[in-house]
Amino acid sequence: MTALRRAAAPFHTWLYPDDRGLYCAAGGFHIDPHQPVERAVITHGHSDHARAGHGAVLATPETIAVMHARLGKESAGSFQPLPYGETITLSEVQVRLVPAGHILGSAQVVIEKQGCRAVVSGDYKRAHDPTCRPFELVPCDLFVTEATFALPVFQHEPAEHEARKLLHSLEEQPERAHLVGAYGLGKCQRMIKLVREAGYEKPIYLHGAMVSLCELYEACGVALGPLVYVADAERGTLAGELVMCPPSALRERWSRRFADPVTAFASGWMRIKGRARQQGVELPLVVSDHADWPELVATIRETGAGEVWITHGRDDALGHYLSTHGVKARALSIVGWDEEAE
Ligand SMILES: [Zn+2]
Ligand SMILES: [Zn+2]
Repeated sequence: MTALRRAAAPFHTWLYPDDRGLYCAAGGFHIDPHQPVERAVITHGHSDHARAGHGAVLATPETIAVMHARLGKESAGSFQPLPYGETITLSEVQVRLVPAGHILGSAQVVIEKQGCRAVVSGDYKRAHDPTCRPFELVPCDLFVTEATFALPVFQHEPAEHEARKLLHSLEEQPERAHLVGAYGLGKCQRMIKLVREAGYEKPIYLHGAMVSLCELYEACGVALGPLVYVADAERGTLAGELVMCPPSALRERWSRRFADPVTAFASGWMRIKGRARQQGVELPLVVSDHADWPELVATIRETGAGEVWITHGRDDALGHYLSTHGVKARALSIVGWDEEAE
């Protein structure tokens, strides 16, 4: 690694949380603010990060497409696309977006000021995902990391393994429909792509809520194979077929039309067996779009950052771990960055 600038970098004087989110005072913008602001840099399209009502939005072209689809083209005063890797100057800082590997278009925000570099990760993961650009490691002085699954108990399975588990269940129980609950932006498309990579070529059926985002992924060049909107499906009970739906639909009337359905749920939270049981999930699939504990720890170490700020809740375990390993850690309580439905 090139010599990092270890000189005292008082990041907190120009990058800090305020009542609307994380504010870069030196650049005059907020990152993923939860309240309307004049100028916002948006890391990705999930609803706790991308909200309506900002004056100007800067994001990757894919994230802007997602925001247009979910929030409308009028959801911000203006949208400025910044493709991965291009640098722009905003007031006293240089800003660049690099892939975060979380969902289509997701980005880490790299901010440089007088030779000091801060990276705000947004949500990220290192694991295989054929629907988006892989996470790119950027050495930095300050790393602002998410901590959704920041407990040692969280160790995700290889996603390919979980996709094979699903296909195996389909083979074993061809008389039953398989309903896979998955978050509609990112997880749904990743699961589809993973079963395609595992050789599944039959049509995959979609709940109405999944259709438009699958079309958007296709339009952005992520081929998902044959998809059928369930309302158009004249197969009745869809025995032996794969149906993607929002997790909430697993418990709704909607699910009762299918043949003795196997209910599956693709989520990092499925690592907690009680959670799967409580939600009545028969086939839990531990597939997450967030870094697990080993990935968080490894990523933080690889950035070489001497200072780490932690967002998204579970900061105590990670903060303690970093402090005992010589890294200055600080919990950032930022309102509105929730435990993600994922
Ligand atoms: Zn997210
Ligand atoms: Zn998040």
